[in-house]
Amino acid sequence: MSLMRPLSSSMRRILAQGLASCVRAVDDLVFPWTCLLCGTEGGALHGPLCASCRAGLLDAAAVAGASACPRCALPIGPYADLRRGCAECRGHSLGFDAALALAPYAESLRDLCLRLKHERNAWLAPWLGNLLAEARQSEFARLPRDTWIVPVPLHWRRRLQRGYNQAEALAKGLSRPLDLRIRQPLRRIKATDRLAHKAASDRMDAMRQAFRARPDPSLNGRTILLVDDILTTGATCGAAARALKQAGAKRVIVAVLARTL
Ligand SMILES: [Zn+2]
Ligand SMILES: [Zn+2]
Repeated sequence: MSLMRPLSSSMRRILAQGLASCVRAVDDLVFPWTCLLCGTEGGALHGPLCASCRAGLLDAAAVAGASACPRCALPIGPYADLRRGCAECRGHSLGFDAALALAPYAESLRDLCLRLKHERNAWLAPWLGNLLAEARQSEFARLPRDTWIVPVPLHWRRRLQRGYNQAEALAKGLSRPLDLRIRQPLRRIKATDRLAHKAASDRMDAMRQAFRARPDPSLNGRTILLVDDILTTGATCGAAARALKQAGAKRVIVAVLARTL
């Protein structure tokens, strides 16, 4: 008969928790945690940002949200008449019905978006998706419960080069807090040249017919939350939204991290 009595499950749990916190403490000692934006060391959050940088982003999001055009997400003065969009988008067919962004593409959000372009920073995406869900929770709460989250797909060649699709990773970060399903009816059938330095009309031309949506009867009448990292002229999201609507989607709302000015 063994003299050692088997450990109870609660004792095993306490030992496992103790061991995990020891490992964490050693890890913190060898690789001290630093905030990605301000470089502050330490902190208990273990996300990429310290509490004050995170609060700063949420403050910027609150200011931007209060003065953004509901149609194209451009930051506009608080006294503008935005009923049919802002002066930039009024009268233009955008392809999508509404857009919301965490904040303008500037300062620390610009820094985070640039990091997100590299696969080694893919771990940031779910965290930023979560932040977007928190910052725009009142707008997201108005979505029908059967809304699909659809990330803007990359052309397979670009995806191969980059190693991952940041829009997909952001969508994952939004899916859990919003409790909405991710589906991918879209395919990017045209490899578009880099669009960053092109004029709006050239972007529109380049993006025409860039996406196709798989025929799917369950798309009929559906609301779609189309997710991407940055909204610039709206040509990419507009083309994706048009393809979704052609396949039966009723309403497309764009959600991005950053809106360029
Ligand atoms: Zn910080
Ligand atoms: Zn607008």
